[in-house]
Amino acid sequence: MPKSPADLIRPEILGLAAYHVQDATGMVKLDAMENPYALPGALRAEVAAATAAAALNRYPDPDAARLKARLKAAMGVPAGAELLLGNGSDELIQMLALACARPGAVILGVEPSFVMFRLIAQWVGARYVGVPLRADFGLDLPAVEAALEREQPALVFLACPNNPTGNLFDAAAVAQVVARAPGLVVVDEAYHAFADRTFMPRLADHPNLLVMRTLSKLGLAGLRLGLLAGAPQWLDQLDKVRLPYNVNVLTQCVAEAVLGHADVLEAQAAEIRAERGRLAAALAARPGVTAFDSAANFILFRVPGAQRVFEGLRERRVLIKNLAGSHPLLEDCLRVTVGTPQENAAFLAALDGALRN
Ligand code: PMP
Repeated sequence: MPKSPADLIRPEILGLAAYHVQDATGMVKLDAMENPYALPGALRAEVAAATAAAALNRYPDPDAARLKARLKAAMGVPAGAELLLGNGSDELIQMLALACARPGAVILGVEPSFVMFRLIAQWVGARYVGVPLRADFGLDLPAVEAALEREQPALVFLACPNNPTGNLFDAAAVAQVVARAPGLVVVDEAYHAFADRTFMPRLADHPNLLVMRTLSKLGLAGLRLGLLAGAPQWLDQLDKVRLPYNVNVLTQCVAEAVLGHADVLEAQAAEIRAERGRLAAALAARPGVTAFDSAANFILFRVPGAQRVFEGLRERRVLIKNLAGSHPLLEDCLRVTVGTPQENAAFLAALDGALRN
């Protein structure tokens, strides 16, 4: 008898739902926190020249030394801290979980937050513990401290700003978690470019702190490049579960070229922050809509009948993210990525149509 998946695949994998990416063909795409702006023409030409000269017949530089030097400068990585690169920060989460998954290991996060923390913990057979956020999406510090004490997690993930809620957790509370955690604390700063706070300089003070960033939200989601900054004693161990050539030749050469003009990405991020303010005000002015404060490049909002509104938007060819049903705190919640002024206007017009349905 040939074996079936149920015979061979681990039960925890059989029980998972696959990470679902919505089809966006022909839609105004505001579902995935991408930067809506292309690179300027001169920089595109520079990228084209760099990729034309790239040695595609060779394996990539396994250490990506030049790229790391550029990233350290661009990201303000303090002296003494090192970098580990991933094929997106998703891969870094996977490396962290894989390396820490001793039998019985616990990975702790808050809920709702980025779904890959939980999903990847399940892939590696770790036990995931999600501590609910407060109703205002703030960190429930007493609950997190109690969970640290009770569960003794090897790894804690805190996204600051948090996805999908968009807020920054109180800095003193995050620092307290770092101080009290018995293991590693990863502060995931994927949305750092849209916030005015970072834990990067604190790496020097906390040996169990790691700070994670990505180029995805900055305008290079297609490249897949994430970085983890922290003490070499941790990164040297994590590096052992990195696939040897995980950051490909084209990603390395394009990221190097673009980071030579980091001001371009920063100007786009400033544009997105300004547009976020306009979009938040426009959302809040809609009857029945509550828009939550955001320090990221997206806005979470609550609207009665969110499922119907989401479908009304999709019928009008605007794709956002429906979070209703994903967590009790996200009842009737939708998340829209900040797009160009034209895209946001198209979204608001479609929203008005959907609200009238
Ligand atoms: N962390 C957070 C909080 C995110 O929201 C995302 C993407 N949605 C990621 C990490 C992963 O980003 P990437 O793999 O593109 O670097």
